[in-house]
Amino acid sequence: MPELPELEALRIRIGPPVEGKLITAATVNPKKGHLLRYPVDNFALELPARRITSLTRRGKHLVFATELGGGGQPRWLVVNPMLGGRFQIGGDDIPVPATEVFTLRVEGKVEVRYLDFRDMGRIYWVSDLSREVPAWDLQGPEADAVASMGLDVFRKRLRRFRDELKDLLRNQEFLAGIGNAYSDEILWEARLLPLRRRASLKPEDEEALFRAIPLVLSRAIEAILANPKYEESKQDRKFMAVHMKGGQTCPRCGHRISQLGTNREPLNFCRGCQF
Ligand SMILES: [Zn+2]
Repeated sequence: MPELPELEALRIRIGPPVEGKLITAATVNPKKGHLLRYPVDNFALELPARRITSLTRRGKHLVFATELGGGGQPRWLVVNPMLGGRFQIGGDDIPVPATEVFTLRVEGKVEVRYLDFRDMGRIYWVSDLSREVPAWDLQGPEADAVASMGLDVFRKRLRRFRDELKDLLRNQEFLAGIGNAYSDEILWEARLLPLRRRASLKPEDEEALFRAIPLVLSRAIEAILANPKYEESKQDRKFMAVHMKGGQTCPRCGHRISQLGTNREPLNFCRGCQF
């Protein structure tokens, strides 16, 4: 599931080639039209001839802001990829996979394709983000803005929640952008066990979490951007320390990495160096 780092790297990569450009065509795969929370026919009719004014990210959503010529009628295409959504950027040279949900053709022969392996993604085409995208306004601050928030504000925010740490980090009302994979990585970095309750944290644990969140996220963005062979559609996460590495050796202490949950959505951590 793409989380903040994947979507942020994607935004950095595909923002410049699409921002300011006209959408020349929008096609929807007839077999996947049900993923659009909006009539498919309107989608294909209304997107072309619009200009993409910006590509931004909010939590786990990628947001294409568009306007019709002359600066009028802003409308947003919002994609929440959920478990199996991926983006693919290409031209006519890359064949369209069967998992394609929609393709935007943008002037300059760029194609932005949204693929979905699990058909769980949510796609909105709206004129009012707050009213039309569920829970939009409930999203907390961006997780990568924790450092600029400062430790005191972070502590106050943290103490409003009672969840186990794993659930807390994935709670978009606490911070927006973190899911199953990066919550494992952040807790490993902070040396905290995922099933600990927030109330059990000592001040130094809170500080470790405060430091680990932006560190893990920024390192991941760098790792993704530094990989020239990175394919958006495959989501290579080899750089991770524990997530999806159950049974392997912890890179910090050499202990065997534990796994709870399913293979599809594992919870990984190290009993040797997380407390
Ligand atoms: Zn360890």
